This record gives sequence, C-alpha cells and structure tokens, in this order.
Amino acid sequence: TDKVEKHGFQAEVSRLLHMMVHSVYSEREIFLRELISNASDACDKLRYEALTTPDLLKEDPELQVSLTLDEKAGTLTLSDNGIGMSHDELISHLGTIARSGTSAFMEQMAQKSDGKDKKDAGSMIGQFGVGFYSVFMVSENIEVTSRRAGADESWTWHSDGIGEYTLAPAAKATRGTDIVIHIKDDAKEFLDEHRLRNIIKTYSDHIALPITLVMDKDGEQKSERVNEGKALWTRPKSEITEDQYKEFYHHVGHAMDDPWMTLHYKAEGVLEYTVLMYVPSQPPMDLFDPARKSRSKLYVKRVFITDDCEDLIPGYLRFMRGIVDSQDLPLNISREMLQNNPVLAKIQSAVTKKILSELEKKAKKDPEAYATFWKSFGPVLKEGIYEDFSRRDQLMKLARFETTADKGLSSFDDYIARMKEGQETIYYITGDNINVAKRSPQLEGFRAKGIEVLYLTDAVDDFWLQMVPEYDGKKFQSVTKGVADLEDKKGDDKKDDEKKENTPEIDALIGVLKTNLEGVVKDVRLSNRLTDSAVCLVADDGDMDIHLQRILQQHQQ
Ligand code: ADP
Ligand code: MG
Repeated sequence: TDKVEKHGFQAEVSRLLHMMVHSVYSEREIFLRELISNASDACDKLRYEALTTPDLLKEDPELQVSLTLDEKAGTLTLSDNGIGMSHDELISHLGTIARSGTSAFMEQMAQKSDGKDKKDAGSMIGQFGVGFYSVFMVSENIEVTSRRAGADESWTWHSDGIGEYTLAPAAKATRGTDIVIHIKDDAKEFLDEHRLRNIIKTYSDHIALPITLVMDKDGEQKSERVNEGKALWTRPKSEITEDQYKEFYHHVGHAMDDPWMTLHYKAEGVLEYTVLMYVPSQPPMDLFDPARKSRSKLYVKRVFITDDCEDLIPGYLRFMRGIVDSQDLPLNISREMLQNNPVLAKIQSAVTKKILSELEKKAKKDPEAYATFWKSFGPVLKEGIYEDFSRRDQLMKLARFETTADKGLSSFDDYIARMKEGQETIYYITGDNINVAKRSPQLEGFRAKGIEVLYLTDAVDDFWLQMVPEYDGKKFQSVTKGVADLEDKKGDDKKDDEKKENTPEIDALIGVLKTNLEGVVKDVRLSNRLTDSAVCLVADDGDMDIHLQRILQQHQQ
C-alpha cells in the first residue's frame, strides 16, 4: 500500500529501546502496568475534554479498558476508549521522548549498559519510568491503532522497536486506542491467563476504571472484570494496603521507585478536598531542570482536570507526586481559570503546611531516614527559604547541613547548641561541593580555634543567604569575608608572643604584593586565620561573597 509512511525514532528513543532490550531487567511484567496506566490517563483526558464538549462521550459513554488474550495468535490486545491519538500525536508521543532530562539520563544509562553494570541499567530504567517503550521488552512487534476522539480518521502505528516505525491509515470504527502486542518467544508467560489476572490485580487495582480480561474458552469468548475500579483516594485508609498505595504512586507519579512518604487525608471544613501525595525515594532526573514543573494532579469531584497547574503545589515541593481532589471548584473549570484562583490558593497553602509539618514529624521521629530524604530533595526545599517568606522559619528548621564538626547532617539548632561560649555568629563557607570547601585555607584558623563552620555547598545557598541575615538572632557570616574577628573568641589560647605581628619584613612583603597585585586585589593584609597556608583570598565585609561572585560570573551577570 502506497500510503504507508516510514519514520525513524528520535535518536534518544532508539538508544533507549536498544538498552532496554539488552539490559537485565527482571520485572518485565511492568509493561502491562505502563500500558494500563496510559489507557487510564487517556480516559481521564477524554473525561476532561468532555466537560466542554459532551458530544465526545456520547457514542460510547462508559470509559473502560480491556485486555484480550489470544493464545493461538500469541498476542495480547489492550484497548481503551479514551482520548486516542491523531496521526501527529502518534508520531510525537510514540516516536520521541519529550521529557526534560532525557539526554542526561541517556548518557548515564549508556555508560552502565555498555559496561558490566547491566543490572544497574535495569534499575535506572526503573528510575526513569520508560512507560510505553517498556512493551518492547516482551514483544517482537506491536501495532497501535488509534482514533482521536472527535476525529473521523484512524491510524495504525507499527514497529519492532528497532530504528523505525510505520504509520498507515486504519479503519477503526470507534474512538480510543487498541494496542496489539505480539509476544516474544521468551515471554510466553504473559499469555497465561492466571499470570495476567495477577499482574492486573497487583498493579492496577487502584485504577478508577473497569478493566476486563477477555479470553477464548473452548471456542467461546468469555470476559471477566478484574479490578475494583474505584479511585484509590476515595477509599477509607483502613481498607488500603501498602502495596496498593505503592502501585498508585507508580501510576500517578509515572515513577518506578517506592514512595518515601505517603500522605493521605481528607480535609473537611470551609473547603473540602482529599489529598493523596507522595515523597519519592529517588530524585527524578530532571529535578533541577528549569523547565520542570510539579506534576501533581488536580481533580475536581473525581474528574481529572490537569497535571500542569503551577498553583497547586509550590515550586520548592515539585518533587511531590500525587493528587488533590477538590469538592469546591466548579467541574467546568478551565486551566486558565485556575490561575490566581482563590480557592486553589487556599488549598495550596493548607496542603503545603501539612506537607511541611509531616516532614517535621519525620525529621524528629527518624533522623536517619530524614537525612536520606534531605540529600535527595534538600536543595529543592531550600528554594522555599527565599521564595516563600511566609514559611521561611518552618523551612529553616527543616534544613540540614554538613559542618566542619563532622557530625553528619545538622540543623541550625544543632549548630547553635554546639556554639562556643561567646560566639554570636553562625559561620559558613560556600562552595561548589563539600570537598572543595573542606580544602579551603579560609577554614584553617577556624579549625585551629575549634569553631564550627557550616558547609553550604548547594547553588541555592548563595541565594537564600542574600535574603536571610540571621537565624534565631545569630548573624550569618561567611568565613571568606572580612577580617572574621577570630581573635576575640574565647578559646583563643595562643600566647601573645605567638601572635603574628607586622614586622618591617612583613610590611615590606605586603608592600611588594600590593604593588604587584594592584588592580587585581583591593588590599593585602596580615591575618590570623591561616595556620598552614601562606595566603588566601577574602572578600571585603561589604562586598559579595567570593563563591557567589564566581557563580554570577559563570552566569555572566
Ligand atoms: P507518560 O505516560 O509518562 O507520558 P509514556 O511513554 O507511557 O509516557 O506514554 C507517552 C505518551 O503517549 C503519553 O503521554 C500519551 O500522550 C501517549 N499515549 C500512550 N498510550 C496512550 C493511549 N492508550 N491513549 C492515548 N495516548 C496514549
Ligand atoms: Mg505512561
């Protein structure tokens, strides 16, 4: 047929497919979860569009998913009557990866799968959440036939997952998507009905749509409803198992790790809404991508509205995954109407408060677990210190840092409790990473005098420090700035004759240095801050911290 179009996969997709097929990934059954998850998303999207265009639902109002097993043909067919995909959407959704952070992921992945770390590559697949493409772990080739809701044409996408795919016109009579999976020889286990029933039960019981399994029984077609089909967050907590929470997290977060913290509650009062939110245990690849937004989902009375709403969760909690289901917003709310919406603002504020107070509880109850959380998401949470004035104190209490005392992660309160008698200042050093900061000659004098210094080594530290002059009445002071009056501290037990003094030779040296470095440095002076090194650079008290100067230079500001 002359209408068949050939397309190449985006290079990243080709690489991903290659690595996926060649890495050792033990949980191949997750392909089914990924496909069912997509089918459910597709139905959610249709339900949303039908709020404004009810006709889209008319011909076939019961949204559902079915899985048809054909043992003889060696195929599984997953069908949904959701939003479907147009010709162009098939190309962009199934031929490219739009997600930010993809190239970085690919690089790391390539290193692992080329070497002997094939197992690791498998776990990275988990971390990235490869979604649709996971189907190629179990199939020779697949056909996706789809008809976009409201359109009258349909298309079949076909590929064996190597380099290319084709698109051809199809004759699908109803809206939605059928995916025919030709199961590989080494994956025949997925043609077993018990196995399939089990997988659906395990991975998709929380899906708020009926999922039916259709089979041939002695020449007769038999179909059976497999899941409960009720949105998980609407069920009482006592009836939800940990595994169900976990699987819902995988679905809603497009993630494969386990949740580190699960927060499920219903708010009743002026506003009524249900929250089911998770803190991941692994940071996503694109956590620091400037384009990254929160992907938490907003529902109104159980109808999905959007996963692209900046006002639902503040940016510094963008690592959270999950849903908020509101009873008070109007069902026909458009995404534009959500901007600066006062109801949403109240929900955001209350949910944020709740999340932070749960984190506080965790930090108290299990400091070790909190430390792992902090290592992954601390740098993001710290953005709130300068972004969210109203929660600054709460966020400062949640913050943890390494210090020269080597006592693991410490809070500001820990630091203050360990301050030397008479010390009024919180000393810190910034730097690109802790190892660089540790070697800084600026620290020598502090070490010698036993004064603890905080390592502030995240880029965001330089920024909040500009906004926050003190904590608990103690000023922040960079050790790279000014004369950092070390002599005045108690515990300075150096005898007077050991103190450095300007001798004529030193004056002469300083004179030479000043002349030679004119225009490069502002001043040269004798200091007590060094014990081993001969010289170090410091910033003047009124000037910018040295590390911040460097960051800004890099960004050419
Ligand atoms: P993700 O679900 O994380 O976006 P996937 O790789 O699972 O990534 O799917 C890629 C995209 O393909 C989806 O975002 C969606 O737009 C589209 N898609 C996949 N399956 C379906 C389906 N059954 N119906 C409609 N669109 C689909
Ligand atoms: Mg998906």
